[in-house]
Amino acid sequence: MCNVMLPVKPFAPGCTSLTLTLQAAQALKNGAEPARRPMKIRTSISFSASAFLFALVLIGCAHSAPAQTGPLSASRPWMNAQLAPEQRAELVLGQMTTDEKLELVHGNGMAHVSNWQMPHTNDGNGGAGYVVGVPRLGIPPLYISDAAYGVRDSGANGRYATALPSNLGAASSWDVDSACAYGQIIGSELRAQGYNMTLGGGVNLAREPRNGRSFEYAGEDPLLAGTLVGNRVKCEQAQHVVGDLKHYAVNDQETGRFIVDSVFSRRAMQESDLLAFHIAYSISNAAAVMCSYNRINGDYGCENPYTLGLVLKKQWGFKGFVLSDWGGTHSTEKASAAGLDQEQPMDEFFGPKLKAAVEAGKVPMAELDDHARRVLYAEFVSGIVDFPVAKSVVDAEHGLSVAQAIEEKSIVLLKNAQQVLPIDPARVHTIVLIGAHADVGMISGGGSAQVDPPVGNAILPAGKGATTWQQHIWFPTSPLKALRAQLPNVKIEYNSGADPRAAAELARKADLVIVFAAQWASEGMDQPSLSLPEEQDALIAQVAEANPRTVVVLETGSAVTMPWLSKVAGVVEAWFAGSAGHKALANVLVGSVNPSGKLAISFPRSEADLPRATIPPAPKDQHFATGPVNPGMKGEGFSVHYDEGAAIGYKWFESRNKQPLFAFGFGLSYTTYAYTGLSVDADRRTVRFTVTNTGQRAGSEVAQVYARLPKGADESYKRLAGWKRIELAPGQAETVTVAVDARVLQTYDEGKEAWKLAPGSYQVLVGGASDSTPLTSALEIR
Ligand code: BGC
Repeated sequence: MCNVMLPVKPFAPGCTSLTLTLQAAQALKNGAEPARRPMKIRTSISFSASAFLFALVLIGCAHSAPAQTGPLSASRPWMNAQLAPEQRAELVLGQMTTDEKLELVHGNGMAHVSNWQMPHTNDGNGGAGYVVGVPRLGIPPLYISDAAYGVRDSGANGRYATALPSNLGAASSWDVDSACAYGQIIGSELRAQGYNMTLGGGVNLAREPRNGRSFEYAGEDPLLAGTLVGNRVKCEQAQHVVGDLKHYAVNDQETGRFIVDSVFSRRAMQESDLLAFHIAYSISNAAAVMCSYNRINGDYGCENPYTLGLVLKKQWGFKGFVLSDWGGTHSTEKASAAGLDQEQPMDEFFGPKLKAAVEAGKVPMAELDDHARRVLYAEFVSGIVDFPVAKSVVDAEHGLSVAQAIEEKSIVLLKNAQQVLPIDPARVHTIVLIGAHADVGMISGGGSAQVDPPVGNAILPAGKGATTWQQHIWFPTSPLKALRAQLPNVKIEYNSGADPRAAAELARKADLVIVFAAQWASEGMDQPSLSLPEEQDALIAQVAEANPRTVVVLETGSAVTMPWLSKVAGVVEAWFAGSAGHKALANVLVGSVNPSGKLAISFPRSEADLPRATIPPAPKDQHFATGPVNPGMKGEGFSVHYDEGAAIGYKWFESRNKQPLFAFGFGLSYTTYAYTGLSVDADRRTVRFTVTNTGQRAGSEVAQVYARLPKGADESYKRLAGWKRIELAPGQAETVTVAVDARVLQTYDEGKEAWKLAPGSYQVLVGGASDSTPLTSALEIR
């Protein structure tokens, strides 16, 4: 409450200035609209004006003074920031009534969704969720927003947010610093918009490349995805927002997501999807984990004793709270006992029903205490109690420059025959751009991840701020304008591609053709196939036939097939490129930025090469169900058997002796690199090798280290064990040391529910892609 009304500088130590506090209160008295409605609905006490002002001053002091001493800390010892979050949580819990505990364990509806409204929904700052907190004790509400690649609902709320490159795109940078910068931008923009909790942090593995949410996740490898998402959430939470990892777990397809049962062995689950989450948690100390809609080996993700109770809370020692995906709670007693701490966004199971169950002794008070304690811990550990959220203006310029820098490291050059790129204005005088609205913008990812572009959808008349669910949204990031700015002396024309024959005719005469191809993606749907939609494959083929100096720029949410690959000269994967994607792309195309991205997901040759040629269809009424979840819905018996186990992506292709179109870890550069001199230090579990830039341009190489388990392990694929991003001037050589991450060398013993690191000789492989590892050696583990 105080954070809403008091213009307190969040990081200023000590007591809020009295002048500011009084001004704020005066403004309120004079009828100024408070940034957010105060929590008066929750209390029946009516203050006199002066008592109200005095209370504001006191609360202002309490919230803005991280390390308190003196009378306030004596009455509220938990406000002493010197104490451990666990201790602070315990101290508050001891003061709370049962009703107050219950308030912490459910949501209060969702803004902008008509059938998820509750009495206090409008107090929630316009976000996806709202938890009232305990104002009496200085425990702030949770103002929760989706924020997969930027803050959601900015249009509907009249705000601005940066769109970063998609998570899968940014994962192609393999860059932990970029992951951190990503989290910082989102965390600071959430705060500026008045939120103190994020729903970002998607870490589901790209087990199914047609998954409509692939763009929200960080690829197919547990070490890469876990490390990048872990760093992102760590830095996001450092901005004083409760960090979140989702969707826990094995929510690897959207088809029938509310009911599908993901069936596979515990060993495989531990060595793949759960490992990614564990690594992300161990790096980020995320204070929240969102359990998923689907079932896992029979039990729903939000009432699953194995994934929530045994793995997350016991094995990993997770101290924060588990919140349900929106409408993903299915029971009271079962969910509570399994380890769900907070129902979202309503209170159907964790409101009056939970209260009755506690009163009847069906849910022990200790269990309710545990749920509430975890929410309190999350508030303290993330700093939202000590640093109350205060609205401010988003630093748009900073967001744009970070979004551009990340995209420049994330674009992947997949093909570059006869060095068609970078564009050389000495030789190229005419360029034709074709397709995908490249004259006005670039596509973005949808669903709850959607970030709203300024002014509205670039392909519609300006002025519509808010986007609607599953609208295809184009950012006003025009590649045409960006290229024209970079190449003022080149004639650059645009053709929509609507008439492929006309486009091909125009292309025929150009020195260079760039065809843009887009694949929209969203939550609540999967791609029907790996093909580009809307007959873009045919357009590309026809244009390339007319002019082989054709470069294809892909704006896709996931991997796609490329039946025209042999006919084109170049392919650039730009992903969903974010708020400054056009500038990053233009820099790569003209060569002022040397591409360095490496695929975080394998690109298969065809669907037939995947573990499942098609995604198993769900019962009709639940196929792509996207609305609020109906707990009584049908679909018993609808399951996906993940028989490939932990062999996801490159591991699958290798174990089946299949060549992907483009392998995990692959990406070209305008220079070349050589790998030499591998040595292994078995005691330190490190490898050393030299990478040399053998070309003419400065560049960054992502050097990758893989390991194969000893022969007896009976495993037919290698595992990513570490990597390093190295910047090298032309001719420069650098010897680097990379630690082999022991977590990925282990195997999981289901019988003992424990990990083991088998002794033996592990093959170590080093190179620039999963299918290009010129250096090999052995690591002996005793
Ligand atoms: C999505 C979550 C999202 C939530 C709130 C659900 O449909 O699966 O990822 O955070 O909605 O918008």
